[in-house]
Amino acid sequence: MKAMPIDLRSDTVTRPTAAMRAAMAAADVGDDQFGEDPAINALQERVASLLGKEAALWLPTGTMANQVALRLLTRPGDDVIVSRQCHAVWHETGASGANAGVQFTEVGSGGVFTSEEFAAACKPRGHVVYPPTTLVEIESTHNRAGGVVFPQREAVRICSEARRRGIATYLDGARLWNAAVATGSSLADLAAPFDLASVAFSKGLGAPGGSALAGSRELMTRAVRCRRMLGGAMRQVGIFAAAALYAIDHHVDRLAEDHANAARIAEVLAENRRILLDPAAVQTNILIFDLAAEAPDAATVVARALEQGVLIFAFGPRTIRAVTHLDVSREQCERAARLLASIISESR
Ligand SMILES: *Cc1c(COP(=O)(O)O)cnc(C)c1O
Repeated sequence: MKAMPIDLRSDTVTRPTAAMRAAMAAADVGDDQFGEDPAINALQERVASLLGKEAALWLPTGTMANQVALRLLTRPGDDVIVSRQCHAVWHETGASGANAGVQFTEVGSGGVFTSEEFAAACKPRGHVVYPPTTLVEIESTHNRAGGVVFPQREAVRICSEARRRGIATYLDGARLWNAAVATGSSLADLAAPFDLASVAFSKGLGAPGGSALAGSRELMTRAVRCRRMLGGAMRQVGIFAAAALYAIDHHVDRLAEDHANAARIAEVLAENRRILLDPAAVQTNILIFDLAAEAPDAATVVARALEQGVLIFAFGPRTIRAVTHLDVSREQCERAARLLASIISESR
């Protein structure tokens, strides 16, 4: 029998564990649009308290959380300052232009930016030609930059500068759990500078779906309408909430193992001179590396790895992403790293 593939394409590929499925099967549910789903209500209270906000709202996806955030905090034609290659710009099929009608200004590098870079990109309100900047969005950890944690000191500076200018602040924290575990900070501390924050249950936490937004009660009341407008208001979604609650209880602390596994893969790969990767840059569960000119290209490496049971993702012509998660063991990560290194050492 062929061994199960080692799937490092994303931390979204995890399947609910038997214990998580049992929690889902036992969920106490009701019609969430009447506010009558006990599991959803419990999850929303839990997330609000974890993030230190007044209220939280469950959403089916993180993309919808980002879209609702834009609808809440901007008007069509507004300018939103973001990190380069953020999820909202690269991974939402143009939703922000279509749904919120905003434009993005990407600043900084490597997934982060400074308060000075933010201030330099801000456009004033009421100017005859400039689009008004009304929102700054930070992504932490940053996916396309390789799981980078946004430095908290800088987030605090940016958000206070934004507040001074009357600009709203949003934290796309789909992987904020990873940031919290990597830094030893609480989710509430990480979310504190922001008006609004999101978290996802379907990434490292291993639930089959769902995200949440957290902020003031007033924002969350308005968010209920935005979610409905986007078609995301659902019914007995306590089944998803039960998975999320189970994950919050059992799958957060173990993210440290995913981080250690990613660091181990990075260590093995960095020994190969055809792989351009700084192991010190791997802070959480995502590794992104480039292939030197003499190595096969990303598509070739992905195809050869697939033949041998290791799944990874080409992020560019000579760039590869690998992500560790709850469904890959230390031993599988070791094996995958050695296999990738040997494929990359082959001739083109
Ligand atoms: C995955 C992700 C999202 C949301 O994605 P969905 O697949 O829609 O749940 C949002 N932001 C970031 C940074 C992400 O990595």
